[in-house]
Amino acid sequence: MLGSGLAVWLALIFSMKTTADILILGGGVIGLAIALELKLQGASVAVLCRQFEEAASQAAAGMLAPQAEGIPPGAMRELCIRSRDLYPEWIQKLESISGQTTDYWACGIMAPAYCQADFPHAVTQWQTATAIHQQQPNLSDEVIGGWWFPEDAQVDSRKLARSLWLAVQELGVTIDSGVTVQEIVRQADRVTHLRTSDGDYQAAHYILATGSWSQDLLPIPVVPRKGQMMAVRVPDPTQLPLQTVLFGSESYIVPRQDGRIVIGATSENVGFLPGNTPAGMQQLMRRATRLVPAIANYTIEEFWYGFRPATPDEWPLLGTSAYENLTLATGHYRNGILLTPITGQIIANWVLRQEADAVLNAFHWSRFTA
Ligand SMILES: Cc1cc2nc3c(=O)[nH]c(=O)nc-3n(C[C@H](O)[C@H](O)[C@H](O)COP(=O)(O)OP(=O)(O)OC[C@H]3O[C@@H](n4cnc5c(N)ncnc54)[C@H](O)[C@@H]3O)c2cc1C
Repeated sequence: MLGSGLAVWLALIFSMKTTADILILGGGVIGLAIALELKLQGASVAVLCRQFEEAASQAAAGMLAPQAEGIPPGAMRELCIRSRDLYPEWIQKLESISGQTTDYWACGIMAPAYCQADFPHAVTQWQTATAIHQQQPNLSDEVIGGWWFPEDAQVDSRKLARSLWLAVQELGVTIDSGVTVQEIVRQADRVTHLRTSDGDYQAAHYILATGSWSQDLLPIPVVPRKGQMMAVRVPDPTQLPLQTVLFGSESYIVPRQDGRIVIGATSENVGFLPGNTPAGMQQLMRRATRLVPAIANYTIEEFWYGFRPATPDEWPLLGTSAYENLTLATGHYRNGILLTPITGQIIANWVLRQEADAVLNAFHWSRFTA
């Protein structure tokens, strides 16, 4: 007869699911991009995802805007620019695997200004009123000039998430959808297994990519910052009123090539409070129609909201954790779509070969423990 302790231990071991060597927690763009790179490099990988639709990745505008965002020089700007520059080739690879377009559009981003002080960062691409109105008709008469960032771009983030979701499965990655990780069970400096709504899972390595919900599982400073969004549709998609993304001082306007125009976004510290509010919608409509008055007459198509995973310094948490077999890839705040390709690449290289990218140190979780 087995001792009761040993029997419990054996029962635990044999009831564990071991679907892959590497388990990724979270199926937003970050978790999926890491899964893609790992799988392409030959790793055995699976994804646990509570809900594809709740991901911030589904809510995002999809601007790839390191310059328009005015990110100051330093590690974050470097990471963002590297990721933006990876996009064209990475998207080609992704779309060829998934067979699903992402509507990546290297349309450039314009930052129109109502006054010079609207854009505090030192940039040189100032356009006069005449130049900016000529380049982009339909701007309000209040616009006195602006900045032009031809290398910034956009992608349809929902299509991007879908494309990644299909691509990883095409490559043979298992996605366990509808599974909530309830606890990362740890012993000393290792993760032993995951307790989930679908039983216990075990792997050699774990990657935390649960976005705004990361603090449910680990004491790291990632909190939700809610953003409300809306979309209108132009009456005739062959007559697009905007040919570039507008990154205004109060709001942004992202035209898609099919005639949809995405308008964002509020930024609210309200925890996970769901829903769109009249105040939020009013703010978006007022600011967007101030910048492009014609928007007032387009059909409202949709409104929605999502939760950006914010850290205190607004930089992501990337790389090692306090546990030797747990890697962090979370807290991408308002630039997670932009940072998707580089995060996939850096994290896969780290997990598979301990190849530490030069910028990784700057994004280590321990910066918040000093
Ligand atoms: C309104 C808005 C506009 C934005 N605009 C832009 C933009 O223009 N450009 C840009 O670059 N970025 C933008 N962002 C930011 C970007 O969307 C995020 O940084 C990015 O999507 C984060 O991706 P993620 O995969 O880390 O998290 P998410 O996309 O949130 O995915 C996390 C996933 O983890 C799952 N999960 C959570 N907890 C658990 C658990 N316990 N067990 C199992 N699964 C779990 C969730 O179900 C979810 O599917 C915007 C965000 C918002 C909200």
